[in-house]
Amino acid sequence: MKITTDILIVGTGVSGLYCALNLPDDKDILMITKSTVEENDSFLAQGGICMLKNDDDYDSYFEDTMRAGHYENRKESVDIMIRSSQDIIKDLIDYGVDFQRNEDGSLAFTKEGAHSTPRICFHEDTTGKEITSTLLEAAKKKKNIKIIENLTMVDIIEDNKRCVGIVAKHENGALTEIDARFTVLATGGVGGLYSHSTNFPHLTADSLAIALKHGIELENIDYIQIHPTTLYSRKRGRRFLISESVRGEGAFLFNSHMERFVDELLPRDIVADAIKKQMEKDGKPYVWLSMKPIPKEDILSHFPNIYKTCKQEGYDVTKECIPVVPAQHYFMGGIHVDKYSATSFDTLYAVGETACNGVHGKNRLASNSLLESLVFAKRAAGRIAETFDDYDAVTPDINISDYINCEKDYADIVKKEIERMRIYHEQHNNADEC
Ligand SMILES: Cc1cc2nc3c(=O)[nH]c(=O)nc-3n(C[C@H](O)[C@H](O)[C@H](O)COP(=O)(O)OP(=O)(O)OC[C@H]3O[C@@H](n4cnc5c(N)ncnc54)[C@H](O)[C@@H]3O)c2cc1C
Repeated sequence: MKITTDILIVGTGVSGLYCALNLPDDKDILMITKSTVEENDSFLAQGGICMLKNDDDYDSYFEDTMRAGHYENRKESVDIMIRSSQDIIKDLIDYGVDFQRNEDGSLAFTKEGAHSTPRICFHEDTTGKEITSTLLEAAKKKKNIKIIENLTMVDIIEDNKRCVGIVAKHENGALTEIDARFTVLATGGVGGLYSHSTNFPHLTADSLAIALKHGIELENIDYIQIHPTTLYSRKRGRRFLISESVRGEGAFLFNSHMERFVDELLPRDIVADAIKKQMEKDGKPYVWLSMKPIPKEDILSHFPNIYKTCKQEGYDVTKECIPVVPAQHYFMGGIHVDKYSATSFDTLYAVGETACNGVHGKNRLASNSLLESLVFAKRAAGRIAETFDDYDAVTPDINISDYINCEKDYADIVKKEIERMRIYHEQHNNADEC
C-alpha cells in the first residue's frame, strides 16, 4: 500500500499537533503515531507552561533559562521562545485551554525549581493533558488533517539529501510507503531506551537512529535530563513524576534521618545529583519528600493527580512523606535544527523533544519544553508554508522489501552514539579545565 500527502507529520504530541494546526488549510496533512493519540509525553506534563509575565520579567526569565542550561543555550532560540510565549498562551486560550485564574480573572502563575519568580501557567497538575487534548480535538475537526494511529515510521526516503517521504510499519508488520513533499519529525524523547524513565516506553528515539543512518546532523544527544523526584516503586514500567512545582509550592526533601540536605529549588541536575549522593550515604534506594508544608486544600486543588496516584500507591501526601528517586525524564539534545526547525536535509523538519534548537542548553529549565515545542512547531509550519511551492512532489523509486526489519538495531545504535558523545564531552570538558 502507498499513501501520498502534501505534508507528513510523524508524532501526535503537542509539537506535531500544533505544527499541523498552523499549516495552511489547502494542504493535505497526514499525521501518524506509533501508539494511540493519547499515548505521548505531552499528555503527561504536570507542572505547566512558562510565559513571559510582563516586559520587566524578560531579563530574569532569560537568565533563569541560561543558568539552568549552564550557559550552553543558543541565545537566539531562547530569545525567540520567550518573546513568542504570550502569543502562544493567548492562542491556547483561544483554542479553549483552561488555565488556572486568580479571583480577578488574571492568569495564576506557579513556580518551579530554578525560576526566580512564579511565571508558569497551569491547569491543576494535568496541564499537558489539558493542552494536548484541546489541540487534538481541534486537529480532528480540520478536514485537511488525517490521523493514523499505531503506525510506526521505520525509515525516511532520501533523495539526494532531501526527504521525500517515509516507510512505516503497521501493527501486523505490513509496510507502507508514504510519499510527502515535506516531512516533520515530532517523535518526542528517548525515555524508552532507559529502564527508569517518566516517559512512555514506546518513545525509543527512532528519529535519531534514522538521522544517524542518513547522516542528518545531530546535536548534544548525550544531554539527557534526570528528574530529581519520581515516586519510588519496586514495580517495572514508567515512573510516576512528582512535579517540581510541589517543591516550588513548599515541599521539602529529607534524608533517612529526616534532615534536609539540599536547597529544593536549585536546577534539576544539581538536585538530582544531591539526591543520588544522599541515597548512597543513606544506603537507601530513595529519599523522602514531604508535601506537608503545603496546605491540604492547596494539595487537593493544585495537585489532585499526584494526590490520587500516591493514594493508590498507599501514601496520603497530606499526612505523610513519600519515597522519591531520580529517573530519566527529558532530552535536551536531538536532531540539529535552525530557528525555523529545519534539519540539515531539505524538506525535513524536526520539532518538539526530538529536535535540538539549543533553547535548553545542557539542562532544561522546568516548564520550558511545552512552550519550546509549541513556539518552534509554529515556526516550522510557517516556513513550510512559505517554501512549499519551491519543491516538487517526488515519486520515489524504492523497493519496500528492503525495509523489512530495518529498525531492529535502532535502540542499540542510538545508545552507543549517546555514550560516544558522553565520553567525547567528558574528555573535551576535562581538556578545557586543564
Ligand atoms: C511525566 C512528564 C511530565 C512533564 N511535565 C512537563 C511540564 O510540566 N512542563 C513542560 O513544559 N514539559 C513537561 N514535560 C515534557 C513535555 O511533556 C515534553 O517535552 C513534550 O510534551 C514533548 O512533546 P513532543 O510533541 O515532542 O513529544 P510527545 O508528546 O512525546 O509525542 C511524541 C509522538 O511521537 C510518536 N512517535 C515516536 N516515534 C514514532 C515513530 N517511529 N513512528 C510514529 N510515531 C512515533 C509517539 O507515538 C507520539 O505520538 C513532561 C514530561 C513528562 C514525561
